[in-house]
Amino acid sequence: MLNIGCHLSSSGGYVNMAKQAIEINANTFQFFTRNPRGFKAKAIDKDDVKEFLQIAKENNFVKILAHAPYTLNPCSADKSIRDLAKEILTDDLKRLELTPNNMYNFHPGSHVGQGIQEGIKYIVEALNETLNKKQTTMILLETMAGKGSEIGSKFEEIRQIIDLIELKDKIGVCLDTCHIYDAGYDIVNDLNGVLNDFDKVIGLSKLKAIHLNDSMNPFNNHKDRHQKIGQGSLGIKTITNVINHPKLRNLPFYLETPNEIDGYAQEIKLLKSLYYL
Ligand code: FE
Ligand code: FE
Ligand code: ZN
Repeated sequence: MLNIGCHLSSSGGYVNMAKQAIEINANTFQFFTRNPRGFKAKAIDKDDVKEFLQIAKENNFVKILAHAPYTLNPCSADKSIRDLAKEILTDDLKRLELTPNNMYNFHPGSHVGQGIQEGIKYIVEALNETLNKKQTTMILLETMAGKGSEIGSKFEEIRQIIDLIELKDKIGVCLDTCHIYDAGYDIVNDLNGVLNDFDKVIGLSKLKAIHLNDSMNPFNNHKDRHQKIGQGSLGIKTITNVINHPKLRNLPFYLETPNEIDGYAQEIKLLKSLYYL
């Protein structure tokens, strides 16, 4: 079965997202834990959470994916921004324990000129200070397009971060199809080669989720602009290969394509028709 969902607005709470997901035949979803361009978080409504957990169970949802705000930068050159990132990570992890055993995706960060090694050192510091043994949430480092000074556009950088994390069983990777193509991994012509590379460098056992997006930009462009499924430089053939690949097909897929809910419903329908039974 294709496990798929899309990014939904969290402003109406968990039950609202779950109902929307069910309506479009999704069995999971992604959402922002707080304002994606700021840091404000709404108080969590315990009744909403309780009802959500019941709905998710009844409808056989697979893991939902929380996404950290874009503005979170654990490897900023500015200490106050790094401290804020730790504060947000700690608070998000605490909040996510209300919906246990799910996943939390974040962008490793931008080193803003200090260099990759300095940046990686700070990312690792933020994670080692905020992860805790008791958490049930799996943290996912997202593969990035390499826009500006983003860290995480090379598998080697992600591997380096994971190597330095103390609680390694709490950390995994979310592969974004738009981002890796933009970063120079040619999944159009050599999906097998890219996955072999991922396996050698990071290990496929660390791969926990896929952000399924087409790309507006040509190969290796480092721009990070998502396109609707089948309408970008990846195209429908590559997307079909990705969702059916034996090493990927059982992972949860999350759409972050430029769509409203109707567009997502159509994409999910299309993807289900392309999934080999
Ligand atoms: Fe992301
Ligand atoms: Fe993404
Ligand atoms: Zn993106």
